[in-house]
Amino acid sequence: MLKASINTLTGTSKASISKFNKINLHTIEDLVEHYPKNYEDRSIVVAINQVVLNQANNIVAKVISVPIVNQATKLKVLRFQVSDNTGIMNIVFYRMPYLVNHFQLGHYYNFYGVVKLGLSLEMSSPSHQTHEKYQSSGKLFPIYPSTATLSQGVIRKYIWTSLNEFIIPSYDIAKINDTNLLASGDSKDEFLANDDSKDELMDIAYFNFVPPQIEVKHNLVSKQYALCNIHFPKSAEDLTKARKRLIFEELFLLQMGLYFSKSDFKTKKKGSSKILPDEYNKFVTSLPFVLTNAQQRVVDDLIKDLKSTSAANRLIQGDVGSGKTLVAAIALFIAVKNGYQASMMAPTEVLARQHFDYLSALFKDFNINIDILTGSISKKKREALLENLKNGDIDILIGTHALLEDCVVYKNLGVVITDEQHRFGVRQRLTLNKKGHSPDVIVMTATPIPRTLALILYGDMDISLIDELPPGRIPIQTYAVPSRYHARIYKFMREHIDAGKQCYIICPMVEENEKMDNLKDVISYSEQLKGVFSGYTLEYLHGKMKPKEKNQIIENFVCGKTNILISTTVIEVGINVPNATIMLIENAERFGLSQLHQLRGRVGRGTDASHCILVSDSTNDNTIERLKIMSETTDGFKIADTDLKLRGSGELFGTRQHGLPNMKIANMYTDTSILKIAQEEATAIFKSKKLQKEYQYLINIIKEKFNAENSIL
Ligand code: ADP
Ligand code: MG
Repeated sequence: MLKASINTLTGTSKASISKFNKINLHTIEDLVEHYPKNYEDRSIVVAINQVVLNQANNIVAKVISVPIVNQATKLKVLRFQVSDNTGIMNIVFYRMPYLVNHFQLGHYYNFYGVVKLGLSLEMSSPSHQTHEKYQSSGKLFPIYPSTATLSQGVIRKYIWTSLNEFIIPSYDIAKINDTNLLASGDSKDEFLANDDSKDELMDIAYFNFVPPQIEVKHNLVSKQYALCNIHFPKSAEDLTKARKRLIFEELFLLQMGLYFSKSDFKTKKKGSSKILPDEYNKFVTSLPFVLTNAQQRVVDDLIKDLKSTSAANRLIQGDVGSGKTLVAAIALFIAVKNGYQASMMAPTEVLARQHFDYLSALFKDFNINIDILTGSISKKKREALLENLKNGDIDILIGTHALLEDCVVYKNLGVVITDEQHRFGVRQRLTLNKKGHSPDVIVMTATPIPRTLALILYGDMDISLIDELPPGRIPIQTYAVPSRYHARIYKFMREHIDAGKQCYIICPMVEENEKMDNLKDVISYSEQLKGVFSGYTLEYLHGKMKPKEKNQIIENFVCGKTNILISTTVIEVGINVPNATIMLIENAERFGLSQLHQLRGRVGRGTDASHCILVSDSTNDNTIERLKIMSETTDGFKIADTDLKLRGSGELFGTRQHGLPNMKIANMYTDTSILKIAQEEATAIFKSKKLQKEYQYLINIIKEKFNAENSIL
């Protein structure tokens, strides 16, 4: 029934329905889940002599002149006067002549609208109701997300009707309780299969899928009550209760969905136990650095994981430059020395190649065969590589998305690592993991996600944190400056290059774009800079170049041949050139805080002082605030936190970046306490192994609600 189309409601019009359709509201469910973005508080009545001009005011007043419609004009103006003993006000409606019979001389009404002062006080097209209705109904009026042509009044009316015709009668308490009985029965599937009213019960279960014992335990109001009060709250208190219920429901479903997608309903998978190989100490002492305490802690976590008979599923979070690769190397080493193959996936060819070079050097005295697979590898080489992989000759395979293809088959893949995991979808990671027989899974990210959010995104994973940078790092100095500083900046860069250092310049665009001629682009800016930096080597890089070309350019920069690399954000992740000490970011206003942080993380990776210069002429307050924060802190968590506050979780952790569905009512950043409960309850259900039996209906609902448009499942 929730799936019924809007036109099954009483009193609809085709014109309005098409307007609803335009904002993607098609069914009763869509309507009742179209939550208000705000509420007008009409609990306080203002006396007419106290109204605030040019703002919405809420008055209760008596009609003191006969309402008259001026039929002569096109606007069919309806006009009358009202009074509340403190003053008189004109009430005006346009194009609503039919209201003339609605207002009766001598009767009291509630009016809510913006008051203007012309010849006298005037309120035009106010919301209105009889005084009796005003007294008996809630005082918080919903304000909906809308379009210019779809009025608040129409939305309210349609939602009001939906609630009255569908939600209140169809899902009465008795029926809900019936379903609740089902929820604690032994085999609901069987029960449902034999029941004539299966569809109806499924519909009810779909409507109210939060298990009743959870509702009781956490004092959640019923679904109907919540829906009625989220739209037309009887009081602020009822609104709070309604919100809590709906937020819980949304986060609970999300948690269940995440579990469902990631673990295939199994809790810990059985994996293979790996032991510390004889050469372990020799390998660790051969590493170019002593591990930091934080790295050592994470390595200890990993060793425990690898030794265990259940398959590891661990997220390693570590700010840019914290040394995640070295930790990954140790896991790869242990896998190989236990006779398994291992694989590591990176989001870009450039990064995959860097890992390949870095790891090849670390493993060179340990008789480990390491190879790389990316999209740009020749067909012939690729065929040989795949053959060697299948027969077990290759121990470690590094690569890009190319690793996900069906033809990539391992002999016995035991450890799978995904670097910069937020760049991959859940599905992609799963594809890689499935190439082994319950391999140990490790994912790494530099995106500093606050713990609460990490819990949602990676609810089924163990989390380790590298919360310390290697010793000797000097905090990067960051400056936000306007573009008139360019001459000074270039001089500063020359001094650094003359001292043997290298620089990055980031531009928001690849090529010149007439529509955005105030934005720097890689190609024409490089041309321009050749004059400014004559005698120095400059190269440019962007995502549209051929992989071979890109590799060559990166190589030139890595080995120090190039002084200045002008690039788009293709170098945002992973790239490690410790000799680069200046990061110049043009049109810094074009980048998000976390992105700026990642870009800045390309410098300050050695023991020399590094600088990040953010150029922007923006006068936007939000931008100025963002750039100020960048100059004040280098703490990735603090930056992510601020980013969330400035932009809301929707944007930073939006569908695009993390494959998460958009939330209708929950705010992952502020609703953390409800989130925690939702997570605990979802976890309990999964751990109880009752899911297959008792909660089969939840599985169906999850499948239905997390439809194809949400990439997470
Ligand atoms: P990220 O965590 O950003 O992936 P990397 O693994 O690329 O960081 O490491 C950043 C730099 O720090 C590299 O040059 C790496 O060799 C160096 N590094 C890693 N671990 C240590 C350590 N324990 N001591 C000193 N330098 C280290
Ligand atoms: Mg890295």
